[in-house]
Amino acid sequence: MIAIEKMIAEDHANCVGCYACCSVCPVSAIIMQEDMEGFRYPQVDTEKCIQCGACEVTCPGLHQVQTSEEREPESWAVISNDLTSREQSSSGGVMSLVAEDVLRENGIVFGAAFDEKWEVYHTFVEKVEDLDKLRASKYLQSRIGDSYKKAKAELERGREVLFVGTPCQTIGLKNFLKKEYNNLTVVDFICHGVPSPAVWREYLKERVGDLNEIRRISFRNKNLSWERYLLSFLLKNDNKYLAADLNEDLYLRGFLHNLYLRPSCYHCQFCRKNRPVDITLADFWGVKNVMPEMYDEKGTSLLFAHSEKGRKLVQQLNALKKKVPFCNAVQYNLAMVYPAIPSKHRTEFFRDFKNKPYNICELIEKYTKPALKVRIKKVIKNIPGVYWLVRKIKN
Ligand SMILES: Cc1cc2nc3c(=O)[nH]c(=O)nc-3n(C[C@H](O)[C@H](O)[C@H](O)COP(=O)(O)OP(=O)(O)OC[C@H]3O[C@@H](n4cnc5c(N)ncnc54)[C@H](O)[C@@H]3O)c2cc1C
Repeated sequence: MIAIEKMIAEDHANCVGCYACCSVCPVSAIIMQEDMEGFRYPQVDTEKCIQCGACEVTCPGLHQVQTSEEREPESWAVISNDLTSREQSSSGGVMSLVAEDVLRENGIVFGAAFDEKWEVYHTFVEKVEDLDKLRASKYLQSRIGDSYKKAKAELERGREVLFVGTPCQTIGLKNFLKKEYNNLTVVDFICHGVPSPAVWREYLKERVGDLNEIRRISFRNKNLSWERYLLSFLLKNDNKYLAADLNEDLYLRGFLHNLYLRPSCYHCQFCRKNRPVDITLADFWGVKNVMPEMYDEKGTSLLFAHSEKGRKLVQQLNALKKKVPFCNAVQYNLAMVYPAIPSKHRTEFFRDFKNKPYNICELIEKYTKPALKVRIKKVIKNIPGVYWLVRKIKN
């Protein structure tokens, strides 16, 4: 048995689903297959496999690219000067600024977009007008497909390439490429973890029904505010909106309760201070307290520059920017350095998920419902006068 098969058989949870193994296989003996939880894992065709070991040495679960940087990354609060693109972005719109610079130089940008079934895959754009496809966070795991191979071909042609992805996808790319390219810029983000595409599929069916009716999906609609996650669907029919925020939307609730993240996310080896990428992007949670002058409710990005290229890139951004000490930058965003803690109901959730039929929203509700004590407290607090009375007694 080759190492990659052994790893998956013995320790499923090390595989991040990055596609590096199947991209590097010289005889196309590896395909990615979705498991019962909805995550993709490599499956090796032993008839075709020539035991060359290329998949094993490329796997980021088995071998990580190391970074030579030991000092703290430069940390910045950034707000794009382009208000329109910032409104469509999840944070302060920095990804679009970096991408536009590359596209204007006749480069190519790789990132995550929705497919025709409203699931997420990695693709590329070559024109600024098409950038909207990649803009904004999509909270489910994206399929890399042949993006690593396409990126390599473009790099070899000498074209400027920008690759944006989760920390594990960017390390998968670096392992696949095996060498440094001056014409490559790699951007990752602070990643809470990637939810199951199968859970999203079931949720979409229940929430919207006819997928052809959807015109646009935004996981981070900023109509209420940037800080309150708002999942919205714009429908073709009369431009009708379906929207629900963090408190009401069950998909978001399950995601933030860490109920259905990929198993490898719970012990992610890639969340750390120094990363082998040029920049790391994030939401600047807590900016209101740390740097009130960089807060306006429309989204502020946090940017960590890890390399010389990353540091130069910040200087060129058409944005409002301010340096911030690393400790303040991560104070409210510990996902930079710590992986998500699994929900204690994850196993039960997926046990029920495998046994159709069910109502997915009810299932998520069942495993994310606050304890009875918490719910009673909330009801009592909302009775007029009670909150005032409790404060008076306490004082
Ligand atoms: C699954 C996930 C979890 C995240 N967790 C956190 C977190 O815990 N804390 C935090 O501060 N920030 C987190 N982010 C990042 C944050 O939401 C913003 O994406 C980031 O700040 C960049 O924002 P922006 O305004 O500069 O650009 P945006 O326009 O929002 O750019 C988003 C970029 O991410 C890429 N992308 C979108 N969805 C995916 C996906 N599913 N897989 C791979 N790439 C994708 C897009 O191609 C695009 O290039 C997460 C993002 C994702 C996708």
